[in-house]
This record gives sequence, C-alpha cells and structure tokens, in this order.
Amino acid sequence: MTFAQVQGNQEVKQALIGMVDAGRVPHAILFHEDDGGGAFPLVLAFLQYLYCKHRSDGDSCGQCPSCGKIAKLIHPDVHFVFPTASGVLSEQYMEPLRRLVAEHPSFSEAELLEALGLEGKIPMIAVAESRRLLEKLSLSALEGGYRAVVIYLPERMNAEAANRLLKMIEEPPQQTQFLLISHQVEKVLVTISSRCQRIRIQPAGQAAEAGFAEAGLLDELMTALLGKDLLGALEVSERIASLPSRECAKAFCIFAADRLRQMFLCQQGVQGLGTCAPEVERWAGKCRKTFPRQALEVLDRAVTLIGRNVNLKILFADMTDRLFLLI
Ligand SMILES: [Zn+2]
Repeated sequence: MTFAQVQGNQEVKQALIGMVDAGRVPHAILFHEDDGGGAFPLVLAFLQYLYCKHRSDGDSCGQCPSCGKIAKLIHPDVHFVFPTASGVLSEQYMEPLRRLVAEHPSFSEAELLEALGLEGKIPMIAVAESRRLLEKLSLSALEGGYRAVVIYLPERMNAEAANRLLKMIEEPPQQTQFLLISHQVEKVLVTISSRCQRIRIQPAGQAAEAGFAEAGLLDELMTALLGKDLLGALEVSERIASLPSRECAKAFCIFAADRLRQMFLCQQGVQGLGTCAPEVERWAGKCRKTFPRQALEVLDRAVTLIGRNVNLKILFADMTDRLFLLI
C-alpha cells in the first residue's frame, strides 16, 4: 500500500512523510480514527515509506521486497497486535487478518471480528500478548532496520497488558516504532497516550470534507480570539452550532482538543519542528502559556454538554466567551 493508494487524509499523509524525510519520527504514534476510518492502510503506507530504500516523490516504490512484505503483512520485523479470543495470540490469527487486509484494508472492528470468527464476542488484548511482544523485541531486527509494532485497539488491553506495553513505550528498544490505532482514545491508559504523538484520522470521502470544515472553523475562531475580536469569534461560534448534526459539533470539539494538545506540546518544545501543523505553531507562539490546558477543560465540558442535549447556540457562545478570557 503506497500513500498514493490511500484515499483522503492529505494533511496526515504530508505530516507522516515530513516526519520520515526530516528523520524525526516520534517513536510512538497514536492514530485516532472513527471505526473503519482508514487508519490501517495509512499505517501500512507509512511503514512502507519508512522501510523503503527506493522512495521517491514522497512515496514508497511499492515494488521492492520490503514494500511487498509490508503490504502482505509478512515482514518479519513488523508485528501486529489486536484483540483476540482469550488464550490465543494475535500471531495465530495472522492469516485471516492478511486476507481481510487484502480484500478491504479500511476494515471496521466488526469486519475484523467476523474475519477472526469472533462475531458477538468482546475480544481483548491479554497480558500474554505483551509478554510475547517483549520477547520479540528483545531479539534484533531480522532484516537489520527498524522494528515496528502495530497495535490495533490499545483500549482493549487489560491493565496488566497495558502496563507492560507502557514500559516498552517508556523505554523503547532501539529503532522500534510503535503505531497504535484507537477508536476510543479516552479509554487508552493516559500514561500511554501521553507518550504518543497523536494523529486524528478523518474518514475517507464525505467526512474528509467535514474534517476540512473543522480545520477552517477552528482557524477562524483562533484568528478572531487572538485578534481580541469577540464579536467575530461569536459569529464563528454560531456557525459551529449550526453544523449539520450534534455529532459534527462534537467532532469539531474533538478536533479542536487535538490541536490544543499539539499547541501545548509545541509550547513545551516536546513536538519536533515540522511535526505540528504550521498554524498550531503560530497559535502556540501567540497565546498565553496557560491557554492550551485551560482551553482543553472548556472543550471537555462542551463535549459533555453536547451529549446532554443542551442548546448548541448557547453552548458554543458560552465556550467562546470562556476561551476569549483565557487566551
Ligand atoms: Zn519499496
């Protein structure tokens, strides 16, 4: 899977390509997608790009042995972990996963369960899986380059498994790349998610436009807030309130929260140059140091209230007022 074969998410692709080109790939990346949102093919395209020795024009060649092995999920240094039935390791389910990815790389959780013959069950990532992973990572890379671990649904780890994974992410073995794909980031152990660079994946097609709308609205809102233009900011808040559905309004808040986290990291100097969006760097330089954290609380509150059927116009006007005082 090359980047060219992955639909949509241009911004994310550019960010991933930029990381590899600049030699600044964070050792752990957490992709946050809606179920079936297409993070899996993006991860494969990213891995191909990372490993390929014949990259050109911001893409992998798609033809060398390394690209072929990654595309077919048979690269010996790329490990996959996903929820399974108890007592069975992910590696025992690789065949059905390969068939599913060959057929439909943007698979949903339900499609994965069906492929694994686990319909109607709630599979988990067990502690044995973390143990096995540690064993694999204690060996050197078989093909002498990067080792990569793709964890699909880290929110489905029990506490012990998650704590073992945390240790691996905290003290990563040399040249090991962790790529996590989550549908419910709020359920991922905070100590894990806070050590990952977070990337929001917009679903392909229509919703990519929604993502575009979110980015545009946030840009306008931040410009008005930073310009101390309360009326302008309130005008943007009305447009947020009149997004097509409450889900869209919520998606806006989640998108904005993600950007605020990036601003925070940017201000702390944690985020390597070139890995956060240019507008995020610009905002981070202009707002108060306390803004990202306090604004995150305001957004969390807004998300909770959206779920409680309050009037969106009032809610977003209130949110904007609060942000105006904090910035
Ligand atoms: Zn290649």
